Amino acid sequence: MVEKLTETDRKIYRYLLKKQSNGIQQDLISEELGISNQSVMRSLKKLEKLKLIKREPIMINNRKTYRVIVIKKKLDELIEDKERIIKSPISIDGFLDIPCMSCPYITSICYEGGYFDPRNCQWLINWIKSNIGNKN
Ligand code: SF4
Repeated sequence: MVEKLTETDRKIYRYLLKKQSNGIQQDLISEELGISNQSVMRSLKKLEKLKLIKREPIMINNRKTYRVIVIKKKLDELIEDKERIIKSPISIDGFLDIPCMSCPYITSICYEGGYFDPRNCQWLINWIKSNIGNKN
């Protein structure tokens, strides 16, 4: 079961995606995004559980904290999974075979500005072109 992400989870995930492989010190996330430490911790635990990020322990001024890094491999796997799921035959006619209906990420990590974005999702665009046609 894919856990649903809140707007705060998404905001933090988008922010971490921009940091890419360098990651960021955990306590700076709250500071830079203006989100409480408690909410950041809750979101990070959820993202970690989904294996979208990892946290590596680091020492800053003799204090233990974490560096938070997006797991690139997980993103690649998600794309492969999505492709496999969407390409699998679906016998329901008409609009029920729209890719989003069988996509596990519709309620979690697909959103405007997200890694999966309906505005530029190639699977959705291809489905529209082949089922509705390109009127240009
Ligand atoms: S737009 Fe693409 S990624 Fe998003 S739910 Fe639909 S098929 Fe999945």
